[in-house]
Amino acid sequence: MKRERKNKEIGRYYPSEIGSCIRKVWYSYKYPIESDVDKLKIFEIGNILHRFIIEVFKNEKNNDAIDFINSELPFKMNQKDFVISGRLDDVVVVKEGNKKAIIEIKSVKDIRMTDKPNKTHVMQLQLYMHAIGIHNGIILYVDKTNLKTKSFEISYDEKHSLDILKRFKNLHELLNKDVLPIDEAKQSKETVWMCNMCEYRAKCDRNEK
Ligand code: SF4
Repeated sequence: MKRERKNKEIGRYYPSEIGSCIRKVWYSYKYPIESDVDKLKIFEIGNILHRFIIEVFKNEKNNDAIDFINSELPFKMNQKDFVISGRLDDVVVVKEGNKKAIIEIKSVKDIRMTDKPNKTHVMQLQLYMHAIGIHNGIILYVDKTNLKTKSFEISYDEKHSLDILKRFKNLHELLNKDVLPIDEAKQSKETVWMCNMCEYRAKCDRNEK
């Protein structure tokens, strides 16, 4: 798992990180930290679950309802002076009748607590729909403990997608100018939970560059 970690380079950004706190992402470029093995193991549970869900989509018994088209899509968006690229591991493209849809799979600890799509997941999906050109999106939540699922349809919103691209541009400028971004996750009740899992909490509390 450790071998899979890549060093980050300013000017190359990942679609999966744009929903995170912008200050945390900024720190991750300036002060890369080796991920904690226990955290990597938790991520791996999510990966195992994603692979299982993809197998379910691929299974020929489901062909009447849905056609599996692709997963692990390569992603690349060239912007003026930076690039957004990566492989979309948590995304499946399917066809239902004549309609193609992008399904973003997310694992959760307790699905009973999920009554609406997470804002950061919606951001990711908007970016994927914008880049891939398929404008039907679904976020599928899967409970890690019992495989129960909940799904939410997300409509493509061009303005929202362009705002997300502006976030990348802003991140790129702040990194190049060496300016610390605002402590974004702390600004809202909806996102403050991110700080409990943040490796940069101590630095952030001191507003340290
Ligand atoms: S502690 Fe919270 S606000 Fe600060 S960088 Fe981490 S996630 Fe962002």
